[in-house]
Amino acid sequence: MEKKNLYGLDQKQLKAIMKEIGEKPFRGSQIYDWIYKNRVYDFKNMKNLPASLIDKLEKDYTVSLGEVIRKQKDPEDGTVKYLLEYPDGERVESVLMKYPHGQSLCISSQVGCNMGCTFCASGLGGKVRNLTAEEMLMEVANAEKDSGERVSNIVLMGMGEPLDNFDEVMSFIKKANEILGIGQRHITLSTCGLVPGIRKLANQDLQIGLAVSLHSPFQEDRAKLMPVAKAYPVPELMQACEDYFDKTGRRVTFEYTLIDGKNDRPEDVAELKKLLKGHPHHINLIPLNDVTETDHKRSKNVNKFAAELKKAGLNATIRRKNGSNIDAACGQLRRNSRGI
Ligand code: SF4
Repeated sequence: MEKKNLYGLDQKQLKAIMKEIGEKPFRGSQIYDWIYKNRVYDFKNMKNLPASLIDKLEKDYTVSLGEVIRKQKDPEDGTVKYLLEYPDGERVESVLMKYPHGQSLCISSQVGCNMGCTFCASGLGGKVRNLTAEEMLMEVANAEKDSGERVSNIVLMGMGEPLDNFDEVMSFIKKANEILGIGQRHITLSTCGLVPGIRKLANQDLQIGLAVSLHSPFQEDRAKLMPVAKAYPVPELMQACEDYFDKTGRRVTFEYTLIDGKNDRPEDVAELKKLLKGHPHHINLIPLNDVTETDHKRSKNVNKFAAELKKAGLNATIRRKNGSNIDAACGQLRRNSRGI
């Protein structure tokens, strides 16, 4: 029988397991403290557990963080990309970036992705499976273990569409808060624009940030870049964002990856102005990481585009370029490791 992994389980779940195996529930609290407060993953080193319980645990349980099978570090900015393999052999990427205020980790929420954005390596092979909340916590645990420092911010912007894995992502957010002590205000969820998911999220009473990948203000152009726009057109998406703000009081960030000749033209600035001026917003301009399998090229106009947006009265910043010397585009490292 495959051993059950205890990593990522909360105190209540660990107590329930103790009860199931005929132990006192407080043993669950002890194990909880060893795993999350002391970062001890070997039952033998959990000093206050009796030998009989350690034997039982070793037989049927494990505390596994998965295995980081590849790590790339950008020598210039210190960004680190991890390729993490889970016990079933599936792999995901996470990216750790250092900022003056702490460490920010971009994590994956699915293995692969079904959304098919044309500029993204993660979507090229489709979705393989969802990650569990515990598997997402493992991404954080591995980054902390490797860097020797706490992760202070999390962005759900790696491989996968978080709102397409709604329940596990919600459980992850709650557990990251309770177990790892990462405040909800330090967590950002990024979606390609699944309108029903945005509406559902608005009702969860969370304090997290929401980022929406816009990438073009024109319905036709956006649909060419992001097939999801065919199901949820720009006006519908904007209405959902407006309603999200009304409900939560939290301003939406619009991610905008600049692609040469596709969405960095003067008419894009004019249309963005029509769409966003007077509405609570922030535009995060992202210089594209070239993906070899697509024909999109990085825009040469990043600074000019940002200046034009500001001139138009919009609130825009350029995201610091991280990890340009490693396979930083989401999904590239996993594909390369699989030879696909
Ligand atoms: S950009 Fe995000 S939503 Fe789009 S295919 Fe890539 S991982 Fe999926």
